[in-house]
Amino acid sequence: MNKLLQARIATFTAAKEARERGIYPYFRPISSAQDTEVIIEGKRVLMFGSNSYLGLTNHPRIKEAAQKAIEKYGTGCAGSRFLNGTLDIHIELEDRIAAFTGKPAALIFSTGFQVNLGVMSSLTGRNDYLILDEYDHASIYDGTRLSFSRVIKYGHNDMNDLARRLSMLPEEAIKLIVVDGIFSMEGDLAKLPEIVTLAEQYGATVVVDDAHSLGVIGDKGAGTASHFKLDDKVDIITGTFSKSLASLGGFVASDRDTIDYLKHQARSLIFSASMTPSSAASVLAALDILETEPQHMEQLWNNTRYAMHLLKEEGFDIGDTESPIIPIYVRDNEKTFIVTSLLQQQGVFVNPVVSPAVPSHASLLRFSLMATHTFSQIEEAVEKLAYTFKQVGVLKIKERI
Ligand code: PMP
Repeated sequence: MNKLLQARIATFTAAKEARERGIYPYFRPISSAQDTEVIIEGKRVLMFGSNSYLGLTNHPRIKEAAQKAIEKYGTGCAGSRFLNGTLDIHIELEDRIAAFTGKPAALIFSTGFQVNLGVMSSLTGRNDYLILDEYDHASIYDGTRLSFSRVIKYGHNDMNDLARRLSMLPEEAIKLIVVDGIFSMEGDLAKLPEIVTLAEQYGATVVVDDAHSLGVIGDKGAGTASHFKLDDKVDIITGTFSKSLASLGGFVASDRDTIDYLKHQARSLIFSASMTPSSAASVLAALDILETEPQHMEQLWNNTRYAMHLLKEEGFDIGDTESPIIPIYVRDNEKTFIVTSLLQQQGVFVNPVVSPAVPSHASLLRFSLMATHTFSQIEEAVEKLAYTFKQVGVLKIKERI
C-alpha cells in the first residue's frame, strides 16, 4: 500500500486505544434475536439500545411472512427496481405505505439511508437551497453533499434562526426544509407547526424524515405529520423499515408526480439492487400488526413514561426528550465509554454517543424503549445506571450545584 495512505490510516488511533483499555463499545456481536434480552459472549444482556420500538423483530407472524416470501420468490432480486428487480410485492408495499402515510404515492428503497441520499440529491439544483436542522441525520447531510445546491444549517429546533435564514433567500429559488420528525439521538420532536407556517410564508417545501416516528407517534403510528394533524402541509415524507417495522429498507411518500420524478432521478434507487423479498414481506406483515393491534404502541408509551419517571426521579439529565429515545447525558466522551462498558458487564446494553456525532460536552447514553420491555427490566436497568454513574463519578442533575 502507498506509504502516504498507510501513514494517514495510522493516524486513526482512537479505536485501538479504546480496545487496549477494554472500553471499546462498537460492533458488539449479538448471538440471539434482537429482543429485550440478547446474548452477548454467552451472557444475557438487557437490550436498551434497539430501534425496534414495537418489539416486532421476533414476531411469529412476521417471521412466517418472511419465510413464505423466500419460498415463493427466493432470497434476492438480483437487480435494481429500475430493471429486473421489481416484484409485485414491492408494488403492493408501495401502495400500503402510501395509504399508511396518507400520501397518493410511495417509492421503496433498499435502506432508509439510500432514500435520503436519493431524495436530497435529486430535487434541487445549483441555485436552490436545502435548509437543515443542525441535528438532522447523517443520511440527510450526506444526501445534500451529492446535490449541487446550497446547504443552510439552522440551530436545533430554533425557529427564530430558521425564520431569519429563510428571510435572506431569493424568492425565485427552490427551498427545501428537511427535518427529522423525532430526532434520532435527542428524542425530541421537530417543531412542525412553526416549520410549516414559515414554509408557507417563504414558499418552501417541507420534507420530514419519519425514521423514528413510524409506529411511535401519529394515528396508528403514521408519523409526525399525523401527530400534529398537518398531513396536508408536509409535502414529502421519508422513512425506514429498519426500526418499528422490523425489517430493512426505506421509502419516500409524496404526490404521484414527485414519486415518478424520483423513480427516474434518484441514483441510490436506480443503481442499487431492490429490497429482498423477505424484507418486503416482513414490512407488509408488520403493517398488518400496526394497523390492527394498537396495544403495541400503547405499551411502548407506558414503558416510555415509566422509564422517564424513574430516570427523572433518580436525578438523571435526560434533556428534552418526548419519545422512546431517551438521552442520558454524561457530558464527557471518556466517561461515556467507561459507563457503557461497565453497564454491559452488569448486563445492560446502551449506546454511547460521543463527539463528533455530538459535541463532547453533550456526549450521552442513548437509552431506548421497546413495547416488549417489562417494568421490571426497566427498573433493573435504571438501578444499574444509577449505581454505575456513582461508581464512575458522573454527576447526575440533582447533584449538580
Ligand atoms: N434517518 C434517520 C433519522 C435515521 O436515524 C436513520 C437510521 N439510524 C436513517 C434515516 C437510515 O435508515 P436505515 O437504517 O434504513 O438506513
